[in-house]
Amino acid sequence: MKSDPDIFELIRSAEPVFWQNPDLSQSPSFSLTAADVEDAEARLKRFAPWIADRFPETEPAGGIIESPLTAIPQMAQPLSEKFALPVGKNLWLKRDDSLPISGSVKARGGIYAVLKHTEDLLFEKKLLAPDSDYRTISQETIKAFLNGKKLAVGSTGNLGLSIGIMGAALGYKTSVYISREARQWKKDLLRAKGVRVVESEQDYEAAVAAGRADSAADPDSRFIDDERSVDLYLGYAAAAGRLKKQLDEAGVPVDDAHPLYVYLPCGVGGGPGGITFGLKLIFGRNVRCYFAEPTQAPCMLLAMASGKGSKVSALDYGLTGITAADGLAVTRASELVWREMRTNLDGCFTVRDGDLFVYLRMLSDVCGIRIEPSACAGFAGLQYTAPDSGENAAHLIWSTGGGMVPEEEMNRYLCEGMQGQSGR
Ligand SMILES: *Cc1c(COP(=O)(O)O)cnc(C)c1O
Repeated sequence: MKSDPDIFELIRSAEPVFWQNPDLSQSPSFSLTAADVEDAEARLKRFAPWIADRFPETEPAGGIIESPLTAIPQMAQPLSEKFALPVGKNLWLKRDDSLPISGSVKARGGIYAVLKHTEDLLFEKKLLAPDSDYRTISQETIKAFLNGKKLAVGSTGNLGLSIGIMGAALGYKTSVYISREARQWKKDLLRAKGVRVVESEQDYEAAVAAGRADSAADPDSRFIDDERSVDLYLGYAAAAGRLKKQLDEAGVPVDDAHPLYVYLPCGVGGGPGGITFGLKLIFGRNVRCYFAEPTQAPCMLLAMASGKGSKVSALDYGLTGITAADGLAVTRASELVWREMRTNLDGCFTVRDGDLFVYLRMLSDVCGIRIEPSACAGFAGLQYTAPDSGENAAHLIWSTGGGMVPEEEMNRYLCEGMQGQSGR
């Protein structure tokens, strides 16, 4: 069944929309399996001792890159006022903005993809085995070997940061093909780490294509392909089991009587898709996952609602792909993720840029938590789901980035949010 054509008119006029998936299956089913996620978790554990050594901020958690789950009941009142409808206090923020190493959700999938590739290379050369002490990765022989290898990636910024920082730490020669919306400080930071930054005036899709082509010509280079990578997806999926533990510890039940609503900002789809996959494996239909996208770049909404997947671009609908949500500035969805989400994702919605800054400001004022514009997109979903979700539902906004934003830039965001609140 396809959607009411009216929704496409709204999308075309860049009006915010909410779309419920008419093809949602009562029992989630995926082509990947729980064993694939367990394999990813095991790999992250193998690398943990080296990560703890190399990135001291991860030492308290034993080298496991994880973020806190924070209760934000204080947001219920300002959100209720903004939406002019009641929002309950069972509100949670998953703080991927504070993930160690790169301060965004990309510290999950991006870093995992680099580690997976590294293991493949080192196993093949017999420089490492699954039962090795992974701290030997810092030794000269291995460093020198990895120094002869290259990594490349296309990015709007945050994926470049994750792969650039981790690639450099392992010794790779790393190139980041960065799209037009990337913030200057991200490029500066990468260059300071010795990463080659290839700037472009084009969008994300073009940056990925350029990096993919350059890398294909070089046998020593590996292109980390965000549009097609199962590895990235599995790295994100590993978040789910850890969230389950945090929910248990916080006393938040998820069962038939207590659904969990999760709001995930979506770019190409790997991050929110992988997390949705992991969560649905654990909680089945008791978890309801919604993707949040900018009104100018609703690639997954279009992929899903039209049923055309990656054949459709937001540009086909007269949209620009230009948004202050730089992490979400993607006009064509991942085909792989779309296929996995078709009958498993609950729905999608879009958000105006101006509203992102309103949520950003609200969260800072009320909770003292500062995150980047992309990471605020999930808040908009509450206006659509809150009225029907019932008293027992918990709502979790996945805050996907912001930990490394320089103070000056954050202050500009906050000013923008102030103007938005006064009803610009
Ligand atoms: C990349 C990113 C996302 C979305 O992840 P995709 O895998 O591109 O869908 C969301 N928020 C932030 C801050 C990001 O950097």
